[in-house]
Amino acid sequence: MVVCPFCSAGNGEVLESLPVADLDALYRRLYKAPVARLFGGSAVLSIVRCPACDLRWYEPLAGGDEAFYNTLQHKPWYYVDHKHEFDLALPYLSNGQQVLEVGSGKGNFARFLNKSGLNLRYTGLDFSQEARRMAASYGIDIRVQSVQEYAETHPESHEVVCAFQVLEHVVEIRSFLDAMVKALRPGGTLLIAVPSEDSYISQSNNLALNLPPHHISRYTDRWFENAAQHLNLELVTVQHDPLQAHHRFDYIYQLTIASIYRMFGWKRPMVDHRLVNWMARIPAFVLGKLLAKGLGPHNSPHGHTVFAVFRKPLRALDPMEFQQVGENDDRTL
Ligand SMILES: [Zn+2]
Repeated sequence: MVVCPFCSAGNGEVLESLPVADLDALYRRLYKAPVARLFGGSAVLSIVRCPACDLRWYEPLAGGDEAFYNTLQHKPWYYVDHKHEFDLALPYLSNGQQVLEVGSGKGNFARFLNKSGLNLRYTGLDFSQEARRMAASYGIDIRVQSVQEYAETHPESHEVVCAFQVLEHVVEIRSFLDAMVKALRPGGTLLIAVPSEDSYISQSNNLALNLPPHHISRYTDRWFENAAQHLNLELVTVQHDPLQAHHRFDYIYQLTIASIYRMFGWKRPMVDHRLVNWMARIPAFVLGKLLAKGLGPHNSPHGHTVFAVFRKPLRALDPMEFQQVGENDDRTL
């Protein structure tokens, strides 16, 4: 029985199976990064949907290792300096707050916060020594530590805890989220941004970076509603970013390939090395280059990312605490 790595429900539904050899060939072709070794000898990966919480994840659940990320993080696009979710996060921050960022990379969000004029106490966590070195060159001190370890020694210590484009890389999904909630003060705000499974990327094929071992879980709007209940949080908002200018070509490109497959009634696997896919890419490339220029805010679908805001409820006082508060009030009056 396949058990959900977030809510522990059984009866996961297999949506599609993906031969590891096909995935390995895709990563070798695009990034010269072999990945087959990472899946414990499995010949096939399955994307599974939890019928209870709507999480989608790959079985076996396995992420990239240091060698894999060392290959990717030297690509110029890997650490994007500004992410749209930084702007979305800003209204939830105010002076004097303690902010914890999990998966801080080289400290781009911290640099953005410094420029915002807010006076915040920032802590960043990341696994990468390379990211730590890069952050240090900007004067930002981040810790190489897991959030699970950090929350043990810093419970209820931050007004804001955030993770931008991180959760989809995580193997220990539940303990990761539980630790973020643990580090949050009652009344505090949890901010999460992930690639949206309710956007065009969910239907994209040969999109290696939305596949294992890079992205190993996928998140719908429905999952955020269910997650709030499981984590005892209030879901404040779920916001989709508009299609970013640098994703316009990819949107038209993927839509064209999907339309060609649908027109001929062909099944469209997540990874497809067949000749028909190569042929579909020619009109997709031409239309992508032509039509992307005509896309703007007025005619674009949801963009790549979804941004969710949760609030940790204030702890209900037990009767003893009520009594003490009352006594203190009497003394001050
Ligand atoms: Zn579940």
